[in-house]
Amino acid sequence: MSYKCFACGKTVYQTEVLKILGREYHKRCFRCKVCNCVLNMKSYRALDGNPYCRAHYPNVSEHGAQMNYGGEQQQEEKQEVQQEEQYQEEQQEEQQEEYY
Ligand SMILES: [Zn+2]
Ligand SMILES: [Zn+2]
Repeated sequence: MSYKCFACGKTVYQTEVLKILGREYHKRCFRCKVCNCVLNMKSYRALDGNPYCRAHYPNVSEHGAQMNYGGEQQQEEKQEVQQEEQYQEEQQEEQQEEYY
């Protein structure tokens, strides 16, 4: 069984199909609408049926559209940032102690 790639219009075989937003793409054809960088299931953002990378995802509050994130990756990233900040604070405290 094969599909038609929504981006390039050519046949996509089941081994290389990426089914996203109710459409079928070649994995290499699923790209940001703005900068054309290749996206994947986790890194894409969708608005009005168009895929965007994180950097070019339009400001949702302006459009009033529903957010459609790929997975829960954003939450994970926030946690990582918090951990990094905590680590830096701990290091600063250690440095201060050395001055006394
Ligand atoms: Zn394609
Ligand atoms: Zn982009």
